[in-house]
Amino acid sequence: MGDFSTDAILLRKIEYGDHDLIISFLTRDRGKISVMAKNAKKSVRRFSGAMDLFSVNHIQCVFPKKNKDAMINLCQTVLENGFPRIRYNVVNTAYASYWTEIVSQWLEEGKAQPEIFELLYTALDMVNDGSIRTEVISLLFQIRFMRLSGFSPGLDQCDDCCTGIEAVDSARLWFDFKAGRVVCPTCKGNMQGVQEPAGPFGGSAQGCWVSKGTLKQLSWINTVEMARADRIKFSPIAIQEGETLLESFIPFHIGRHFNSLKFLHKMRSEI
Ligand SMILES: [Zn+2]
Repeated sequence: MGDFSTDAILLRKIEYGDHDLIISFLTRDRGKISVMAKNAKKSVRRFSGAMDLFSVNHIQCVFPKKNKDAMINLCQTVLENGFPRIRYNVVNTAYASYWTEIVSQWLEEGKAQPEIFELLYTALDMVNDGSIRTEVISLLFQIRFMRLSGFSPGLDQCDDCCTGIEAVDSARLWFDFKAGRVVCPTCKGNMQGVQEPAGPFGGSAQGCWVSKGTLKQLSWINTVEMARADRIKFSPIAIQEGETLLESFIPFHIGRHFNSLKFLHKMRSEI
């Protein structure tokens, strides 16, 4: 194996000793990789402006020659997009941190997933552009990420009686976080189960009630071309319901709490 170069989004960086950094990138060609940036703190010329979170860089790397277990070395970076409107806005930073934590937690090291690279790149670019609300971009990112990762929630029909959501005689349906499915009120009433304790984000620990309109909009943004995303119109209620649904479902599926999500909820409560 020789050297390689690729486009890469900076997900995480950790100081290593006095001079080096260990950096996690999501790359276009090689998926998520961790690399060692030797003397990164001094080498302003080699790594100029390219060490900020969420920035997109063209990176050049070299595989270790002798010790095959050693880390890939980062040789050079060229900044392609620094997304200043993300980094200088604390709420945008909170959202971008959440998305990069999802990517970091879910993706396997070294497995190319160019569609997820494109999705994250596009979402960051849209936030930086500023013409669509970041809350809506976050819904778009989350639901499409789940589809690309193969764990799309079923939102089109009651998963028990298979009635399409349009035909369900109720304004709202129950979304089950663990199963990732919607259930009509009749089937929900027939389910054997304990009373759910109150959950953290307006739903319960197991699920939440979601209006039909929100379910339809989430289905639509899951499949619409990204170029048409500026036509998305979400009401404040739909945004809130979508956030509750997705920000509960994703940690449930990935099986861990997200520090970035706690920070995001704190930011949101202070707005
Ligand atoms: Zn049903």
